[in-house]
Amino acid sequence: MEQDLARRPSHAGRRVLVTGAGQGIGGAIAEAFARRGAHVGVLDADAGRAGAMAERIRAAGGRAAPARADVADHAALAEAVVALEASLGGPFDTLVNNAGISPKHAGRAHAVWEMAPEEWQHVVGVNLNGCFNAIRLLVPAMREAGGGSIVNMSSVAGRTYSPVVGAHYAATKAALIGLTKHLAGELGPFGIRVNAIAPGRIDTPLIRTVDDAVNAAQVAATPLRRLGRPDEVADLALYLASEEASFVTGQVVDVAGGMMMT
Ligand code: NAD
Repeated sequence: MEQDLARRPSHAGRRVLVTGAGQGIGGAIAEAFARRGAHVGVLDADAGRAGAMAERIRAAGGRAAPARADVADHAALAEAVVALEASLGGPFDTLVNNAGISPKHAGRAHAVWEMAPEEWQHVVGVNLNGCFNAIRLLVPAMREAGGGSIVNMSSVAGRTYSPVVGAHYAATKAALIGLTKHLAGELGPFGIRVNAIAPGRIDTPLIRTVDDAVNAAQVAATPLRRLGRPDEVADLALYLASEEASFVTGQVVDVAGGMMMT
């Protein structure tokens, strides 16, 4: 019984890398891990955002270090990881692959026939290759340490049609589901768990790039009849990366207010 009571979802002393952590869902995840005692690498393509978020966490008594890198750029990401590990005192045991983009043009995503090949490549580079890059860089130390946890940020749009995103976004978020399931199998024998989160419509700067009417329609399609909050996604990331989820791997968990229940 005593053992059970001691088994809380604490992340004290863990080293967690959160990509795209400067704002929105990634920012909430970085803050949530720091609140539970983790040492957080706040990585973002925007140096100002990364610095401000790390500062905010430190001002609240948490431990965090910022770094700027585009996750699509393997060499730049590798450099940032080395710098963060030096600041935080060792290698990461937890990775939250959160950085992602969903380009809009005058408030809407391009249809496939309007989409420049460069835009397609850019989205694949950030949303999919970026996750591979971070995983490739962090897994060797996790293997050496005998375990670790990876959480990939997919989307309900990776599983079913969503009118508010482009084909590139949907394809990359679907690919993250395949990546998650494959890597759960490949890395499970080394004690590394790999799961994915599929958010529905979450209130972040990303979704404010579309018209209010579009977001209202999304709310109407959500049984709980509201947008989600970044901290509600963060709670799921905390759980998936915690000891309480020690037998959970290869799963895609929705945090979507019941939206698109497929
Ligand atoms: P956001 O745009 O509010 O924040 C994303 C952060 O990632 C920004 O700080 C940005 O600077 C950073 N970033 C962007 N490209 C980067 C890159 N190449 N390298 C490093 N950092 C980069 O987005 P959000 O709404 O918080 O979304 C976070 C994740 O959640 C994304 O993967 C997104 O696809 C996913 N998601 C969001 C929603 C939603 O409704 N908001 C729904 C489903 C999935």
